[in-house]
Amino acid sequence: MQYPEPVAKLIDSYMHLPGIGKKTAVRLAFYTIDMNKEDVENFANALHDTKAKLKLCSICGNITEEDPCEICSDPNRDQSQLLVVEQPKDVAIMEKMKDFNGLYHILHGVLSPMEGKGPDDINISSLIRRLQKNEAIKEVIIATNATPEGDATAMYLARLLKPAQIKVTRLARGLSVGSDIEYADEMTLFKAVEGRTEM
Ligand SMILES: [Zn+2]
Repeated sequence: MQYPEPVAKLIDSYMHLPGIGKKTAVRLAFYTIDMNKEDVENFANALHDTKAKLKLCSICGNITEEDPCEICSDPNRDQSQLLVVEQPKDVAIMEKMKDFNGLYHILHGVLSPMEGKGPDDINISSLIRRLQKNEAIKEVIIATNATPEGDATAMYLARLLKPAQIKVTRLARGLSVGSDIEYADEMTLFKAVEGRTEM
């Protein structure tokens, strides 16, 4: 069946979202058509604002409205610990745990030869610059996921930072192999941070 063009476009947009197939996209599109005007406008504005109002923090790479972000500009955070994660969503998860009070650095990916992703394709050079400029940082805690790519990235960073005489640790394997920080509960994460080991 041929949908009117605005409907076809909406279905196509929904299909760009992860885990949404054609059938679900059609259902969401028709649900949207039935929504009242105000709700649709709020939805559209929320989508628009994520791009218009958010930027990346120039220090840590986290998503933020203000640059530097809230965490980087908070003098009450422990300036001696830097936790390195793959994605901004990992920061949100670690913050929910509330036990970590240091700073973050977001790589926006991992090294992946299969996908042609090398050190220049993720946020590593800014990490090195940050460590060179900031002598307060005494420990870098690598919290990439326990996947082959996450492990390879951790090893690469540990080797890179070794000459700088900064303590490099990795989250303990409370997280089972192949698991995401995203799926770990708060207790598991807490234990993983507590039991971190030097690389
Ligand atoms: Zn920041």
